[in-house]
Amino acid sequence: MEDCIFCKIIKGEIPSKTVYEDEDCKAFCDVNPQAPVHVLVVPKKHVQSLAKAADDEKLLGKLMRTCALVAESLGLADGYRVVTNVGENGCQSVLHLHLHVLGGKKLSERMS
Ligand code: AMP
Repeated sequence: MEDCIFCKIIKGEIPSKTVYEDEDCKAFCDVNPQAPVHVLVVPKKHVQSLAKAADDEKLLGKLMRTCALVAESLGLADGYRVVTNVGENGCQSVLHLHLHVLGGKKLSERMS
């Protein structure tokens, strides 16, 4: 999608600190980290959000597995959190599906 910032990152038009990439997805460091490790796992296909992924069940599974592999590769053996924000109440700011992988410290027990 033309003016989607994550599509531009995927195409290499905007720089990112890539930690993993394959034919389906890319993982890169969040520019405004909320934990010592904060990586975004993003499908290369433009899907607006989890709510719009009805036709993408296989891709969703791949993204979840990629989160686990990325977490392992970054040494998050003590645990981590995977989050996806959806829509206005979910505070989604980039309208391209992405999973946040947060770790590197004991995270807050509260999620809201
Ligand atoms: P969300 O609020 O769930 O839509 O998350 C969007 C995330 O994208 C935020 O955590 C931002 O810090 C992050 N972000 C925005 N622009 C960039 C960028 N150019 N490179 C890396 N992360 C970004």
